[in-house]
Order: sequence, then C-alpha cells, then structure tokens
Amino acid sequence: MFKHDHSAPVHSSRCASRHLHPRPPAMTLSAQPQMLLPIANGRTQHTHVRRIDSPRPQATVLALMAAELRIGELETALCEARAAAFTDTLTGALNRRGFDDAHRRELARARRSGSSMALALIDIDDFKRLNDTFGHQVGDQALVHLVKVLCAALRPSDILCRFGGEEFVLLLPETELNAAAAAISRFQRQLAAHAIPGTDAVLTFSAGVVMQEVGEALDHTILRADAATYAAKRAGKNCVITG
Ligand code: GH3
Ligand code: MG
Ligand code: MG
Repeated sequence: MFKHDHSAPVHSSRCASRHLHPRPPAMTLSAQPQMLLPIANGRTQHTHVRRIDSPRPQATVLALMAAELRIGELETALCEARAAAFTDTLTGALNRRGFDDAHRRELARARRSGSSMALALIDIDDFKRLNDTFGHQVGDQALVHLVKVLCAALRPSDILCRFGGEEFVLLLPETELNAAAAAISRFQRQLAAHAIPGTDAVLTFSAGVVMQEVGEALDHTILRADAATYAAKRAGKNCVITG
C-alpha cells in the first residue's frame, strides 16, 4: 500500500540450491564402503565398515515434505517480521527505518537516471485541539484517515512515512518542485472533501516542499523542508510553501 514491498518472499535460495544439487541417494547394502584392515601377518582383509539399512522411501518423502513446509512457514514469518519492522503500526505508513531504506533505494535510482526527487514535510494543523475536542482515540483515527486519503491519491512510486506524532514525510521521485507543490495542494483538497470518520470535522495540514539536492544528506534536506513547513504555519496554516 505504501509503495514499499517488503512482502516479496525472501526467496528460498536453499530451495533452489536443493533442486540444483539434490542429495545423493541413501546408500544401499551393496554400495556400502569396504575397508582394508591390516591383520597380524602383514596381509589385509576386507571388512564392511557399517551396515546402513535402506530408509523407507515413503517416510523419507514425507519427512522432506514436512521440512519444506516448515521452511515455507519460517520464510513467511521472516517476511512478516521484516515488514513490521519497517512499518508504523497505527497507520501502516512506513516508519523512519522503512523510510531510510526506501530513500536509499530511490536516491540510487535517481542518481542512475539523473532524475530529480522532491521531498515534502507534512504537519497536521491544530492536532492537539482535535485530540482535546474529540479524544485521543479519534485523534488516532484521524491519523489513519489522513494516510488512507493520501495513499489513495499518491502515485505508486511515491513514498509516505510517518515521521513522528502528527508529522509525515513524503518522497516524490521523478518530480520537479512545482509539480510536487501542486500534488500536495491536491492532497489538501482531497482531505478537505472527506470528514474524519465519526465526526463532521476535516483535517488540514501545512507542508514544506523542497528538492533533494545532489550530494545533500537526507537530514539536511528534511531540515530545509521543516523550515518551509514552519513558514507555512506562520503564513496561516493549511498551505504549501516551497523551499
Ligand atoms: P500546529 O498546527 O502548530 O502544528 O499545532 P498542533 O496542535 O498540530 O501541534 P502540537 O505540536 O502543538 O501538538 C501535536 C499534538 O499531536 C500533541 C500530541 O499529543 C498529538 N499526537 C502526537 N502523536 C499522536 C498520536 O499518535 N495519536 C494522537 N491521538 N495524538 C498524537
Ligand atoms: Mg508537529
Ligand atoms: Mg501539527
């Protein structure tokens, strides 16, 4: 949903390897190794080292199937744990760790293709008052609502992260500054068109939009976006300022 795909199976290289290098068949009695043992007069004699009974083929196949099933279960659990580590539990947006990961990937892609990347910091307006008026639970639902409305409006390549509290960072790959600001204004209009579930109130937010400069550290880009957001608050909230 949030343009990150941690659900892709961590594919089983072990499975692939097993297909490429099947285990050798169990040894049968006729194939058992023999060893030459020295005897007192200096000659040697043949002896069987160990008898290995043939395993029952059906039991072996069943054991292998059970092991495959267990490996599948463990791989699914690993994928889920990985997705959870990168996701904000309340809203389902990426958390900061997930964002750092996605940003690294997008930055590398932008460098390869020479494309530009915009970043917006979104801060909900008067969220404390919303909590005070409707209660903390409605406040929580308002955060979920915001993410839902934004995600419905984002492009598949856009990346949304809950940065903390009532602040979100949005990464817009292959987007110029003016186009990014226009997209954020559109999100504001969409949010204004949908009341917070269970209330007749709507959310508004202030946003600062900047371009990620070549060679600029992410922290610095976010600081510039934060300054633009602050300017949007001072300008009366519910607006977008580019920086
Ligand atoms: P401004 O328009 O200047 O941004 O004002 P604001 O009230 O949005 O900002 P302020 O920083 O004063 O308050 C943020 C509030 O967000 C206070 C905090 O309790 C609330 N908040 C942060 N995280 C959560 C959360 O997960 N759930 C809820 N319900 N409230 C949260
Ligand atoms: Mg804030
Ligand atoms: Mg706020």
